[in-house]
Amino acid sequence: MTHRQWQLLGPEDIALRSFEPVGPKPGELLLRVRAALVCGTDLKVFLNGGHARMLQPPCPFGHELAGTVIAVGATQSSDRRSQSWAVGDEVVIGNSAPCYRCRECARGRENLCADLEYLNGAFADTVLVPERFVRHNCHRRPASLSPKLAALAEPLACALHCRELLLPTLERLSSMDHNVEHDVEVVVFGAGPLGLLLVGLLARDGLSVTSADPNERRLAASRAFGATQTELVVERERVVPPLLEHRGGERFDLAIDATGRASGRSATLEAVRAGGTAVYFSGTLHSPRIALDADRIHYDEISLLGVYHHRPPLMAQALEELDDHQLPFSHLVNETVPLEDLPRALRLMRDRQALKVALDIDGEQVAESSEA
Ligand SMILES: [Zn+2]
Ligand SMILES: [Zn+2]
Repeated sequence: MTHRQWQLLGPEDIALRSFEPVGPKPGELLLRVRAALVCGTDLKVFLNGGHARMLQPPCPFGHELAGTVIAVGATQSSDRRSQSWAVGDEVVIGNSAPCYRCRECARGRENLCADLEYLNGAFADTVLVPERFVRHNCHRRPASLSPKLAALAEPLACALHCRELLLPTLERLSSMDHNVEHDVEVVVFGAGPLGLLLVGLLARDGLSVTSADPNERRLAASRAFGATQTELVVERERVVPPLLEHRGGERFDLAIDATGRASGRSATLEAVRAGGTAVYFSGTLHSPRIALDADRIHYDEISLLGVYHHRPPLMAQALEELDDHQLPFSHLVNETVPLEDLPRALRLMRDRQALKVALDIDGEQVAESSEA
């Protein structure tokens, strides 16, 4: 069996290397990757040559995957928390594992764990899953869910995390409307995969959702996910004035930045009405600094909410959501390529020709065996 994995070596520098997995040791699993998805974060990491939290090169690359257990390390039977896994089990692995010992973990904020470990190496035909991930963030793939769709659990968990952090705000907004019926209005800047998932979840909650993006095809996808309004962004640095003009000057209760750009962060603050909440959902590719109108935050009582990553229980919830098929999740993955075509997959995403690209490692396996 081949063991190949893509490694990130530096900015726009990747290589497909052979490797021999060492293990699985006790508590670990060895997986055959069946499908891996390229995420906007991977593109950002590729262009930047690293990520402040998740990985520094040289290192294995890719973090959204579904796979089959092909070897199980000797289990420690004294530990009742760990599920038992067997060869042939179909699983989805979350790409982080909290310590469950620190203050943040104790407060249910595992994504902020002081010792959060990340798992990279999804762009491979084999991946070794460390013990902490097996224990805390390994999930059975529902039988009716394809590996490709199941690998969407990671980005969906990020969107579910955002929704979870927004729940107190949403409850407050709806309880304030005592006499008059006002829709809670939200604008999501950026209609990439995560922007679309946010549109879908919030629209399903009954919010009136506007989606803003420079790409007409992505706005069409937003409508499929339940956006009631769309705004074609003509000029990234001047998004909000035309958007508000189309609404008679009315701002939004909530504005969410899912663009990965400084201009999106500025727009998010600018678009929110007095008493509203601006959400910084995505990390930026370039400078994280923006000019901030602190007076507006003070006088208009704007709340600023940062949202990062996800927690293991949300990976489980995401798999249930995907298995429910209530949102058009399959719209998010519009290209499938074999493992060695990762460079093309990254180009397709950089050029906005695909929302997400799947690496179909399973299909490749079939092709290999039919050649033999
Ligand atoms: Zn991701
Ligand atoms: Zn912790």
